[in-house]
Amino acid sequence: MMLAPFKTPIYVTRPVFPDLADYTDQLRNIWESKQLTNNGSQHKKLETELAAYLGASHLKLFNNGTLALLLGLKALGLKGEVITTPFTFPATVQCLDWNQLTPVFCDIDPITLNIDADKIESLITEQTTAILAVHVFGNPCEVEKIQRIADKHNLRVIYDGAHVFGTEINGKPINSFGDMTMYSFHATKLFNTVEGGALAFKDAQMEQQLELLKNFGLLNAEQVVLSGLNAKMNELQAAMGIEVLKVVEVERRKRHELKKTYETHLAGIPGIRIITNLEGPASSYQYFVIEIDDSLYGRTRDELFNELAKFNIFPRKYFYPLCSDFSWYSHLESARPENLPFSRKLVHQVLSMPFYGELGTDAAEKICEIIRELHVEQKELLNFRK
Ligand SMILES: *Cc1c(COP(=O)(O)O)cnc(C)c1O
Repeated sequence: MMLAPFKTPIYVTRPVFPDLADYTDQLRNIWESKQLTNNGSQHKKLETELAAYLGASHLKLFNNGTLALLLGLKALGLKGEVITTPFTFPATVQCLDWNQLTPVFCDIDPITLNIDADKIESLITEQTTAILAVHVFGNPCEVEKIQRIADKHNLRVIYDGAHVFGTEINGKPINSFGDMTMYSFHATKLFNTVEGGALAFKDAQMEQQLELLKNFGLLNAEQVVLSGLNAKMNELQAAMGIEVLKVVEVERRKRHELKKTYETHLAGIPGIRIITNLEGPASSYQYFVIEIDDSLYGRTRDELFNELAKFNIFPRKYFYPLCSDFSWYSHLESARPENLPFSRKLVHQVLSMPFYGELGTDAAEKICEIIRELHVEQKELLNFRK
């Protein structure tokens, strides 16, 4: 092999850091305020700024995306079955478990990797109360179609929007679709508050319910009106968010250049398809994901993954394994492999590539050259197999 490995490991992402001096100024404000948590001034400021940035009519902050989703589902008072996707991060379905809701797994669309809206209706039963969909890797779900199904069957629609920070569908904020959208501000996401999350929601009446749920059900110092949790974002997290929000556009622009580089240099490699092909306001630029068709590329995703490691390149097999394969779902009819053919196939074909501003276009170009080198010609394969 002519190409040399990278000198230092290249990981799938690196957190976006704000300017340290700016964050230090924020810390000074917090020290002077003498308030570290419980809806302090940083929290209020970030909540207002994010609602504006994301175009959300109502928005609440949480200490992570998982608790935002968990308590959002709780606030909707759902019961019974929720139709969802097996191709997601474990948190999505675990939030159903913690609400005593039964997931009903629906297969995915092989192009977008999102829940296949055309397969939802056949899974609806008397027990179904909601659809929990994920805008996987930033590709938006078929929001209109999903809403039509929900309206027809009187179901709630909840989106796991952990991958769609700041994105739009035909000029409309993505959170304007469905009853609520969860955002994650984990360090690995485009926008981070170290750990953190938010819920954008339609119904103003939910505001108080969510406020109670994230703060032990405390109505005031002496009245506890429901069984809540502690899911509050603290002042240091909020201050981080205020500063990261200032640099997020710069990061998006850098990633746009990276994406162009990847696209140019992956072009023409047999068996490589780019899954994240949106750009501009439609894209969160959170991931750059490829699909590897081993019959054309000459190696499987796992083989490519192992070869890349030799070059000090460490992409991630998001999302692997399928959530429907978790042991505690083995009794579910909808989790059976034969009911999820595309999910089963694609879970072995998808690779999330290194994608963060600091990576730089030279490194992205080199990664593409390595992927091109590792491609095995059909001729060679035939000789090999003889
Ligand atoms: C990151 C992520 C979550 C979890 O968010 P946290 O803020 O880490 O709790 C949930 N769903 C998806 C699809 C994610 O990528």
